[in-house]
Amino acid sequence: MASIRELHEQLIKKERSAVEITQEALDRIQALEPKLHSFLHVTAQQALEQASAVDAKIAAGEEIGILAGIPVGIKDNMCTKGIPTTCASQILKNFVPPYESTVTQKLLDSGAVMVGKTNLDEFAMGGSTENSAYHITANPWDLSRVPGGSSGGSAAAVAADECVVSIGSDTGGSIRQPASFCGVVGMKPTYGLVSRYGLVAFASSLDQIGPFGRSVEDSAILLSAIAGHDPKDSTSLKVPIPDYAAGLKPDLRARGRLRIGVIKETFGEGLDSVVEQTVTKAIDQLQSLGAEIHIISCPRFRYGVPSYYIIAPSEASANLARYDGVKYGYRAPDVDNLLSMYTRTRSTGFGEEVKRRIMIGTYALSAGYYDAYYLKAQKVRTLIKQDFEKAFEQVDVLACPTVPTTAFKAGEKNTDPLSMYLLDLMTIPANLAGLPGLSVPCGFDDNGLPIGLQLIGKVLREDQLFQVAYAYEQSTTWHLRQPQIS
Ligand code: GLN
Repeated sequence: MASIRELHEQLIKKERSAVEITQEALDRIQALEPKLHSFLHVTAQQALEQASAVDAKIAAGEEIGILAGIPVGIKDNMCTKGIPTTCASQILKNFVPPYESTVTQKLLDSGAVMVGKTNLDEFAMGGSTENSAYHITANPWDLSRVPGGSSGGSAAAVAADECVVSIGSDTGGSIRQPASFCGVVGMKPTYGLVSRYGLVAFASSLDQIGPFGRSVEDSAILLSAIAGHDPKDSTSLKVPIPDYAAGLKPDLRARGRLRIGVIKETFGEGLDSVVEQTVTKAIDQLQSLGAEIHIISCPRFRYGVPSYYIIAPSEASANLARYDGVKYGYRAPDVDNLLSMYTRTRSTGFGEEVKRRIMIGTYALSAGYYDAYYLKAQKVRTLIKQDFEKAFEQVDVLACPTVPTTAFKAGEKNTDPLSMYLLDLMTIPANLAGLPGLSVPCGFDDNGLPIGLQLIGKVLREDQLFQVAYAYEQSTTWHLRQPQIS
């Protein structure tokens, strides 16, 4: 499928209708879903209605926005009024939200066409989409491998052309990591840039919603549409939102001197040699485009994983207390008293990984352990933030691999949660510090699996990340390769 801008041109020139574009996406979904399973619900009827409304506007000579008529996938942890929102959990199996999340409302207002809700790890906990209670999503580049996670459905759907762009959420890497595994662009914005109202909470101090696209420009267009202050989210920032796509130039130095810091600690032990070589080449490419390359040390990065896996489960244990069989969602049948109702509901409604995190979090927050674990983890978080502050005194943007490996085989890491947690090594620090991070395709391994380059920016400098990624992308052909699914 074409880019947002190309489709927009086709629409306003009346070369194609929004219904035709939507139908093409729906046909592709129908053809590929038996193999891919990127979606939990396909909303074909609503999508065609939305598309017709766009066509009616065009026919009436009204001006349409850039996203009007563009097929979009939405991660199924964002509330959509009247449409099931399961978080890939049994506990929300029959939940149909009575309200719309701010992000999906903004997309509706922009005329974008939602083709469906995409698969994820249950409550966004995981890095492979294997923790979904419903089905496992396949990686479009190799169906025996995982698409990454937790926003694996959103990444796979875009890579496989089932929709043009999609929305994910990123608490410790869940947009950037699957973007890297699926060979698409994924951006986690600055904490507070995009409203979390209607996003089912996992770890509230880390969660952020962001875009996936096959190109930097598509992702930039989508972010401009969903960002912005929202009185319904108390952590939402009151800042002007630029048109991120408008300023993109293939010239890396279009806005003057650019210093890129390579995070020394992210190269070394645990990093696949092919990822190391590919990312190093990408950094050389940035240098040849005119960036100054500096080697930067962030010595406390390595404590990101241990502190995240205290903070995120702690917040999750509090956020998930609401699923008790009383307020909404699933209730276990055949119970004889209140306590057994709570216990049975939660022990059968939640999956293994979610329960593991609730237990870790409850333990870490309990009296007597709070100081030793939670408070300590928060102090480490501050130290990691200080590493970034120091780095950003010397450079404008930081670069490192997005993930230490390429996509692994489904089932490979199921028995060892720690090996899965370690994949978040390079993505977690940006969440802990609230900084924007982006993954852009930078090559392939010997098995033809995509590799991502991660760029981390200063607070609210999404524009700079898009600019660097765009100049890089335009000087390479990686984004033009497409998975052949047969
Ligand atoms: N893989 C990480 C986790 O399991 C990140 C998840 C996320 O960003 N939602 O917590």
